[in-house]
Amino acid sequence: MLVDVPMRGRIPAIFLENGTLSDHDLQKVKDAAAATGQPVRAVLDRLGLISQKEWARACAEHLNSPLVTLDDMPVRLPEDPRLSADYLRRSAIVPLEIAPDRAFFAVADPFDDNAIAALEMIFGAGLSVGIATDRDIEMAMARDKAAAQAEAPDASDLVAPSDGLDLDTDKLTELANNAPTVRYLETLFDAAIEMRATDIHLEPVQAATSARVRLRVDGELTEVQSPDPGIYEGVVSRLKILAGMDISERRLPQDGRIRQRLSGREIDMRVASAPMIHGEAIVLRLLDNHEGLSKLKDLHLPAHVSERLGAAIAQPNGLILVTGPTGSGKTTTLHAAMNALNETRRKIVTIENPVEIQTPGLQQIEVNAELGWTFAAALRTVLRHDPDVIMVGEIRDSETAELAVRAAMTGHLVFSTLHTNSAHDAATRLIDLGVPEYLMKSVVRLVAAQRLVRRVCTTCAVVADDQTRTLFTQLDQRTGGHTDPTTWNLKTSVGCDACNQTGFRGRLALFEAMEPEELALAGKDASTGVRTMASEGVRMVAEGQTTLEEVMRVLGVKSF
Ligand SMILES: [Zn+2]
Repeated sequence: MLVDVPMRGRIPAIFLENGTLSDHDLQKVKDAAAATGQPVRAVLDRLGLISQKEWARACAEHLNSPLVTLDDMPVRLPEDPRLSADYLRRSAIVPLEIAPDRAFFAVADPFDDNAIAALEMIFGAGLSVGIATDRDIEMAMARDKAAAQAEAPDASDLVAPSDGLDLDTDKLTELANNAPTVRYLETLFDAAIEMRATDIHLEPVQAATSARVRLRVDGELTEVQSPDPGIYEGVVSRLKILAGMDISERRLPQDGRIRQRLSGREIDMRVASAPMIHGEAIVLRLLDNHEGLSKLKDLHLPAHVSERLGAAIAQPNGLILVTGPTGSGKTTTLHAAMNALNETRRKIVTIENPVEIQTPGLQQIEVNAELGWTFAAALRTVLRHDPDVIMVGEIRDSETAELAVRAAMTGHLVFSTLHTNSAHDAATRLIDLGVPEYLMKSVVRLVAAQRLVRRVCTTCAVVADDQTRTLFTQLDQRTGGHTDPTTWNLKTSVGCDACNQTGFRGRLALFEAMEPEELALAGKDASTGVRTMASEGVRMVAEGQTTLEEVMRVLGVKSF
């Protein structure tokens, strides 16, 4: 499936006529919108050319429509079964009045023809629209959700009385909608996106009123601005409301999901809360299926790995395994493979825990072990649904292993992951799980192992010193000496503004890919010529893509 980025929205002519926007700006905005998939209005705001407010005002003027602010909107928004919450959020539309003969909506982008056409189809001539900013529309939605929760009949009963930690639901809702709370989260989300964070960690310190906030960037945590004293509780409540959690429940962990337009882009976040001794901690995982490594070519696989992977996924059946510790990018790789196979002529079913990347065209199942809906149970069900390709999130018990092998032997192409350190260990693990060795060899097409290494920041990196060169020479020889010393480009990381002083920017996947007959050899020594992760790491260091220290850290090598 190709990612199509249509230019959404048009720019009111007024900005060009009155000179707010030059032709040069316009081109820049169009390019940025096309490159990022963000709507034009979001790009204008982000580049500081036209703020959300100016945009809304100009649209209203241009179209002769009313300008609507948060104060003009009802706290409880009217509902209509024909309008899904998802459509409204995605299109940045909020219903303000719905009556039998008329309907009034606030929209952020009156030039979004598809979204407006949908409203026209439903409400016909009775439809009228006003213009509001994205921010006010998001606020109205959050306020409505909070009010709905506060109205829920049993919400107040859930708050256990008196131990000093208790604030009632009304108070929490009020805190959640405080201007400083809203502003803090806006800034935090902007920073997370700007810094390409994969996770946001909010942790209470000492009293519930203060907190530490960190972002995970390229696999490492970095501390960012914490909320002002006194607003942490409101920040937590707001996140829980946005994630559809119960704000009055503060003693048990909860899970939720936030899908929100941030910096003009649709961002999907998985949210988990957990009670700590000083209050609630919240972790948000940014499930960014927009910029992720979602195509095989984006993974920058070395030629020998991509050839092997390409050949393996072209098979009509067999088992393809990806191994690596948590956070090594296994899910991304599997989804990249699914994307490569995602065509009408194939039925693809994935069984995941949880579904992290949603892809149109795939049938995705989320298992829930507590309900007995395990990988094995789901796999049994899936086999009755006539699939061509099956992805099983993880094999960790013998029942799942046996079912996966059987599926691979009966005409299905099966993908899965194993929690092992190397491809070689995967073979041992499968045998431990009760798969006979001869079967393993006949059914397994390929075992890939992977790690993510941080790419050295090209802005600040310097040429490595002689000591590093000596150390690298030893490592190169130990891994078979595949590189040519005359072309070495060894780097040492330093740190600058471009990389937030970390010395690294972005990540690269480090792969090994082995066919069954190589698995046994790989456990032995480098002279067998099997390309291992270590030899791949050496190649990346030699090419100056990352540093020797980074590869040693990732592979858990302390010295030579
Ligand atoms: Zn740098």
